[in-house]
This record gives sequence, structure tokens and C-alpha cells, in this order.
Amino acid sequence: MIELVGNMHMHTTYSDGEATHREIAESAARAGLDWVIVTDHNIWVKGVAGYYDTVLLLVGEEVHDCRRAPQANHLLVFGAECELAPLASSPQAVIDEANARGALTFLAHVVEYPSRVAKEDALGWADWNVTGYTGIEIWNYMSEFKARIPTVLHALQYAYFPKAGIRGPFPKALNLWDQLTAKGKLVVGIGGADAHGNSYSLGPLRRTIFPYDYLFSAVNTHVLLNTPTAGNMTTDQALIFDALRAGRAWVGCDVLGSTRGFGFEARSGLAWATMGGDIQRAGAVTLQVTTPLPGDIRIVNNGRIVARAAGQACKYLSTEAGAFRVEVYRGSQGWIFSNPIFVR
Ligand SMILES: [Zn+2]
Ligand SMILES: [Zn+2]
Repeated sequence: MIELVGNMHMHTTYSDGEATHREIAESAARAGLDWVIVTDHNIWVKGVAGYYDTVLLLVGEEVHDCRRAPQANHLLVFGAECELAPLASSPQAVIDEANARGALTFLAHVVEYPSRVAKEDALGWADWNVTGYTGIEIWNYMSEFKARIPTVLHALQYAYFPKAGIRGPFPKALNLWDQLTAKGKLVVGIGGADAHGNSYSLGPLRRTIFPYDYLFSAVNTHVLLNTPTAGNMTTDQALIFDALRAGRAWVGCDVLGSTRGFGFEARSGLAWATMGGDIQRAGAVTLQVTTPLPGDIRIVNNGRIVARAAGQACKYLSTEAGAFRVEVYRGSQGWIFSNPIFVR
């Protein structure tokens, strides 16, 4: 399969970001990304999607109700090819319309904590009665930053040593995800930058603490395509969306070491499956993880660690059913979070 690396949560000057679409594509190229999806707040920008040299820039929308207090329930919509913000007062209506249009929907930054420095509300997902969405954003870089800085001094520290602040998805977000997938239905996990290129005033200093270039090298989503890209926007968008819909993807914090080449697969008799897939047990199932660099590898079944190994491989023979996913840490920092394989 062909691996492509992308980022699927960012803002331009059309909402509260500081870069244009072209600048975003250039930044993504510098960070080594293959594709990005721009998600401006409550606006779908027509006519800017396409290849910018090597980077495929696609345009989605981050839909939320501006009249809600707090403004929780941010929904990422990809591939609707129209603006869904008019439906924002009902997340279910947005999801239903997106599904009718063959689009993908992801509940953004599902868990958030208020920022003590910027006095910002927690804007996690509140309406858990919704159904029919594609997946959830398990790791949002800017939400993590917002939650973890207790004082302006800490923010300053982050500004100069951003990598040191990375821990991983919030445990509460992973728990929520495990509860959803334990029901046996795929809920695709993605990660995103939520890049805005914002400058922050830190006492006497003003600094863009998380420039696009940095964020595009950090929390990315890697997808596995069944066929090579064609260099044509329509075809390649469909390939990327198919991989996302199928969950053939993992979240990689590439700034801690590139996660390109990560693998997680299951075999049982002649059956084989990779991330997002299903496998029927014929006796036992062998789950095999390989990583491009050494790490602390954990295989998790329905929220419980069932195997753990240090290094670049982990193999586990299971006779249990369930949703098996992988977490890999480098030191105390979260590095790779795979989508689950369902053993039936
Ligand atoms: Zn948001
Ligand atoms: Zn956003």
C-alpha cells in the first residue's frame, strides 16, 4: 500500500488564521507533507483546492454554532463541496447532510480543557447523541497546548521549546474512543494541528509560537492508499478520503521522529487485515507491529493493554475478539496512535 502523510485541521485568512491557501501549501511542502485539508470556521472556500507543486491542498470546513455558549461541538466536514454552516445549530443535521453528499465528518477536539492563560473556554464535543459520523479527532495539537500551560511563563517556555511540551492525546479522549470502538463499529481516529499561525503576546514579547511549518511537522495523519496517486485532484482526493473512511490511518507525531513506515497488521489462517479492517478468527490471530524507530509499543484491546514491547517490533498471539489498536511512546511522549483492527 502507498503511504501519504497529511494534516487535516488548519485555518487561513478566510477565518482566524494568518496564512493564505498558497502559503499553507508551501508550508506543508517544507514540512514534507503530501496533502492538507483546510478547515476554516463556518466557511467553505471554493476554487482554491488542487495541487500546489507536490502538495495536494483540499478544502473542508469546521462547522460550529457561533450562538451556542460555550461554542462546543466543532465538526470537521470533508468533501461536502458546499458550505454546511447554515445547519450549524444542529450537529446531527450537518452530519446527515454531509452523509447525503458522500462527505466525511469528524468530531473535532473531542476533549478540551479551558485555557488558564488565554481565558478560553473548553470547546470539546458535548452532544454525544449524534450518530453517523466518520470518526473523531483524538489528538489536536493546539488543544493540548491550551490545556497544559498554567502560566504565561510556561507559554514562553513552550514558544522556544515546543517539542518538550508534547505528551500525547488526552487519556480521556482515548477512553472515549475505546468505548465507541468496543461496540464493534469503526470510529476513525485522526490527529490534526489546528494551525492558525497566531501570534501571542507574552509579556513584553510577541511571537508566533506555533507557526504552520512547525505544526505540520508535528501531529499528522498518515493514510494507506490501495493504489498510487494519479497527480489529479479529483482522483487523489477520492483515494485519500477512501483511506480515511476505511480507517487505514494512524496519527503520528512526526516531530519526535518520522512515523513513515509504521505497520500494524493481523493474520489468521489465510486472512489478513490492516488498520481499520476486520478479520475473522480461524483459531488464533497474530497481531504484528513494526515501527521505523525504537519506542515503547503497546497493543490495546478494548482499552486494555494486552501486549507491550520496547524496540521496533511487537508481536501478539490472541484468541480474543475485540478492537485492537496500537500506541507507541518515545520516552514519556506519545508518538504513534493507530486505528483499530477488529477481530471478530
Ligand atoms: Zn475547533
Ligand atoms: Zn480549528
